[in-house]
Amino acid sequence: MGDICISIWRSEGSFVYLQGKTGANQLKIKVMCGVTWCNKETEFYNKSQKYKYCSTHIQYKKYAANAPTRPHLMYKVEKLLANKLECECCGYNAKTFFPNRPVKQLAGLFDVDHIISDIKHTLEGEQPSNYQLLCKQCHILKSYDSGDFISKNNRK
Ligand SMILES: [Zn+2]
Ligand SMILES: [Zn+2]
Repeated sequence: MGDICISIWRSEGSFVYLQGKTGANQLKIKVMCGVTWCNKETEFYNKSQKYKYCSTHIQYKKYAANAPTRPHLMYKVEKLLANKLECECCGYNAKTFFPNRPVKQLAGLFDVDHIISDIKHTLEGEQPSNYQLLCKQCHILKSYDSGDFISKNNRK
């Protein structure tokens, strides 16, 4: 008699929201944010369709249009929105140096580094626990240390 609730994680496109009755039960389908580590539901953009990302992550459009194919960029978007555009290695904070620059420009001064680069492109590797926001300098130096500076895969 209670509600039946089905959660759907969807990686591409928008999804038609289904709502109907199955016997005495109300059938509800939740559409979850397309960011794999996010547990928030998406919102409607019209009567029957929902956004692919939650209200937080949908804001990637303003900062990193290619984020849907590059999940680590969603991490940068989170940092931007939290006003934490700081290097997680040396603490460099671009806003203190360039307070009048648009945040989108300042975002370009940082890269998202995969802490363990071997698990890049795996579900495990594409999680905030494997990301760190680095300033360009720290990122370049880390790349020298790990010997993958010339690797194309390492360029963000
Ligand atoms: Zn989300
Ligand atoms: Zn740094």
